[in-house]
Amino acid sequence: MSVPFYDHAKLYMARKDAIDAAIQRVLASGRLDWGDEVPAFEGEFAAWIGATHAVTVGSGTAALKVALLALGIGRGDEVITVPNTDVASSSAIRFTGADVVWVDVHPLTRTMDPDSFAAAITPRTRAVMPVDLFGHPADLDRILAIAHRHGIAVVEDACIALGATLDERKIGALSDVTCFSFAPTKHLGAYGSGGACLTEDAELAERMSKISGYGQQRSRHRMGGPGFLPQGLHHETDGLNERLDELQAAVLRVKLKDLDANLTARRAQAARYEARLRGSRINPPKVAEGVGHAWRNYVIEADDRDAVRRSLAASGITTSLSYAPPMHLQPVYADLNLGRGSFPVSERICDRLIGLPIGPHLDLEQIDAVADALLRPHDG
Ligand SMILES: *Cc1c(COP(=O)(O)O)cnc(C)c1O
Repeated sequence: MSVPFYDHAKLYMARKDAIDAAIQRVLASGRLDWGDEVPAFEGEFAAWIGATHAVTVGSGTAALKVALLALGIGRGDEVITVPNTDVASSSAIRFTGADVVWVDVHPLTRTMDPDSFAAAITPRTRAVMPVDLFGHPADLDRILAIAHRHGIAVVEDACIALGATLDERKIGALSDVTCFSFAPTKHLGAYGSGGACLTEDAELAERMSKISGYGQQRSRHRMGGPGFLPQGLHHETDGLNERLDELQAAVLRVKLKDLDANLTARRAQAARYEARLRGSRINPPKVAEGVGHAWRNYVIEADDRDAVRRSLAASGITTSLSYAPPMHLQPVYADLNLGRGSFPVSERICDRLIGLPIGPHLDLEQIDAVADALLRPHDG
């Protein structure tokens, strides 16, 4: 039995009629830009989360960058994040001109250790970017309390945690800004690129909207019908062109309707893995008290990681190495001179992690096939 890591075509075929209709609606309207789909999706997405403002942008990377820029972060500032994540968390910080400061993670949740965060704060620290790794929220209550005591903004990288909860509260309305990605492989995947910044702060939402749309109010771009008299330019800030497009928004509006079912499938698959692995030589991932995990990734750890991956591949099972090696060991950050041993917990996780297939394109029989292959003895 083959177990693919992703299968976008299969998920498309299951919703083909509704998606084709949404795409045709946009094409037939002739409004590929500044139309009604983006604002409609923003409202529907914010409502699904239970947040007040959703500003859509061009990607998860753009969401992180736009959030930091809207907070006024740049040259001379420090932003604290973790090394065991997607490069976007660190690169967004450096693209603003600020310095990235990494701190290590907790070995069980694999998310930012709040004590290490507190110890890394300096007079230059302007923001902290906890990452909800693999769909497990960071320890946000403690991180928010420490940050706000020091006047530090919390920009949460929730790009792989859509649908995760903390004490029954959905991730997305807890931090100063919460950033999501609509890359095709994430929980809510566009057929291209997309992202969103969520906030409860109307002024911050307005700034993020302008920064991601050429530095002027988005409403100025909207075209009316015959006789409409467009306004002149009014650029209030340096801006980017980092917007979600109408076609992606229309597709996401269809796919948002499947998000609850998608999360339910992931949770059932994670429960099946857990039941199969408990008591074996492979520990299932830990979930902290009060956490509703979003299971974007089901990541186990093994000393003989490479042998296990080879053996699974020979059985037709695709695994992933997200996210390894850690960022401080990537060539792009060599100038920071943080070698091996700088973040031992992150390094150990990255050395041993194996991402197993999970997602709505799979069924429980395929999860069992992975568990069977995993529990067979492996030779190097
Ligand atoms: C995918 C991802 C991002 C970036 O999102 P893009 O839409 O690919 O730009 C940022 N952070 C994490 C943790 C991610 O997994």
